[in-house]
Amino acid sequence: MARVAVVTGGTRGIGEAISIALNDMGFTVAANYGGSDDKARAFTEKTGIKSYKWNVADHQACLDGCAQVVADLGPIDAVVNNAGITRDGTLMKMSWEAWDEVIRVNLGGCFNMAKATFAGMKERGFGRYVQIGSINGQAGQYGQVNYAAAKSGIHGFTKALAQEGAKFGITANAIAPGYIDTDMVAAVPPDVLAKIVAKIPVGRLGQASEIARAVAFLVSEEAGFITGSTMSVNGGQHMY
Ligand code: NDP
Repeated sequence: MARVAVVTGGTRGIGEAISIALNDMGFTVAANYGGSDDKARAFTEKTGIKSYKWNVADHQACLDGCAQVVADLGPIDAVVNNAGITRDGTLMKMSWEAWDEVIRVNLGGCFNMAKATFAGMKERGFGRYVQIGSINGQAGQYGQVNYAAAKSGIHGFTKALAQEGAKFGITANAIAPGYIDTDMVAAVPPDVLAKIVAKIPVGRLGQASEIARAVAFLVSEEAGFITGSTMSVNGGQHMY
């Protein structure tokens, strides 16, 4: 039977490319999303990949959502924690709500999804977690204390999860993308974006498919000796 993968935020942007890549390599994919029903519908029509709506920041919703995936598709072998949001602003201007929401979605979502799936992977002796961190979790970024803290937290979460999963055949790795051409980056003001691109040695934004390729590598059967690592995919912008 094909292995089953859940990709959070898997119906658009980087997540869409990851869902398609894992589907192409033979996984049965469940693409989670948070609110954009129209985009999810279009994604499913285009790809044939089932989409599931739940909020990754909601612990019970993750437990229920994953139980539904298991009932529909079978036991979950791989989780790609990709769902993420930005609520940018300097510390002086950032509300507690903007801080809290980013931590709960970007970092809390990883915990919630691991809680919903780790026991099953342990029982079957195989599992793959890939968290999508960020260059801004490695290097920090002006106006993003919430996002940088959440993404930096993801890297610590991944290393601890890797230690707990190792003896059960469960790996946990993170990818730290640089600036990738998606809706999230389209929200960056053009003058700021031009300055960012000027600092990328390869001279361009990354493509979602380039992140998907790294995820496909890490979830493969052959990647069982790679765990607790962070792969930077950033065009040489930050060498960590
Ligand atoms: P997008 O904004 O294009 O897509 C975000 C995805 O996350 C959407 O599918 C969205 O669902 C989903 N999502 C958001 N909040 C929730 C939630 N509470 N519950 C479930 N799903 C949710 O982002 P990108 O594709 O650009 O980014 C994907 C990941 O990569 C994020 O974690 C981001 O931080 C990270 N990243 C992105 C970079 C970039 O340059 N783009 C750089 C470094 C890291 P819906 O469609 O329903 O809104």
